[in-house]
Amino acid sequence: MNIETNIPLKDKTWFQTGGPARYFCEPTTSQEFQQALQYAHDNNLEIFILGVGANILVSDDGFDGLVIRPQLKDVTITKSGDDILVKADAGVIMADLINYCFDNNILGLEEFSGIPSTIGGAAYINLHYFKCLFSQLLVEAIVIEKETGKLMTVNTDWFEYGYNKSKLLEGNHYLVSATIKLKKASDLEVAYTRGKSDEIIRYRTYRYPSKNTCGSFFRNFHEHEVTEISNGKKMIHVAYYLDKLGIKGCLSQGDACVSHQHANMLVNRGQATTNDIIKLSRLMQEKVKEKFDIIPQPECQFIGFKEYPLL
Ligand SMILES: Cc1cc2nc3c(=O)[nH]c(=O)nc-3n(C[C@H](O)[C@H](O)[C@H](O)COP(=O)(O)OP(=O)(O)OC[C@H]3O[C@@H](n4cnc5c(N)ncnc54)[C@H](O)[C@@H]3O)c2cc1C
Repeated sequence: MNIETNIPLKDKTWFQTGGPARYFCEPTTSQEFQQALQYAHDNNLEIFILGVGANILVSDDGFDGLVIRPQLKDVTITKSGDDILVKADAGVIMADLINYCFDNNILGLEEFSGIPSTIGGAAYINLHYFKCLFSQLLVEAIVIEKETGKLMTVNTDWFEYGYNKSKLLEGNHYLVSATIKLKKASDLEVAYTRGKSDEIIRYRTYRYPSKNTCGSFFRNFHEHEVTEISNGKKMIHVAYYLDKLGIKGCLSQGDACVSHQHANMLVNRGQATTNDIIKLSRLMQEKVKEKFDIIPQPECQFIGFKEYPLL
């Protein structure tokens, strides 16, 4: 398998910032995935698995190890009683899978319309949109063990899923494929749901920035982290605190700014560096700490930093 060197990552992430990968490869089969891990092992290289780069911030110095961008793209459909099981490889793009399902009269993924993600990225973070979680659909997966390259078939419990939480975050296994349980539908139901999917995308485009961002930069708080109460409920939504700072569309560092559409979304206006984004997000943390005495923590993954760059 071809291992390339000094490959830019800037054009492979949604933020469009950051330096190159020292080594880079795109396995198309699980055997090639195993070879890539072996290469990293033999050369004592740190590994990073890249999806479509929609939830990462790469250091301006780049990543001094092997970036593996899985290009395993198979999708297979099997029937199990009234349910349909769809097995999708890690490199399949969510939007492509949603459309593939529509074309095959299968529904269930449409709530994720408009979210940039591979299946690997979705399994990693437990992709969510309001109350819909990727883990609610997952029934089985094949993962590869980082140290040994061993392929393992695991069930949903293995992932220990929570909000923004899965066993994959420990970094000892990577997703190879996921099997999800969906529903067969009539032509009429599919036509209706295609409309719903278009509507979700329209709404998202109106509500959120749709390029040069990683979506929500900070995660919501856990209940035990907050004391602020509104309407009898603990305020866990980080946007609630950020909104109160009045920073939307005006706080910036270099060419990185807080989106005018959403206070928890940072946008590269064109020439921002990763360092601009770090400076801006730190400033946001400081402002929230000063006003509410809590520190927002990132949902976005930091890649290639020698030290953790935020508070
Ligand atoms: C405009 C915009 C809107 C967004 N809206 C939402 C939203 O509504 N809900 C939501 O949950 N997220 C949202 N996000 C965040 C993002 O879409 C998700 O986190 C998505 O799952 C990232 O997938 P990815 O393929 O880009 O992964 P990447 O960003 O490339 O990687 C993210 C993490 O996943 C890991 N990973 C990727 N593939 C694998 C694999 N095969 N095995 C193990 N680990 C892997 C990476 O190592 C990394 O740690 C949004 C992002 C943007 C830019």
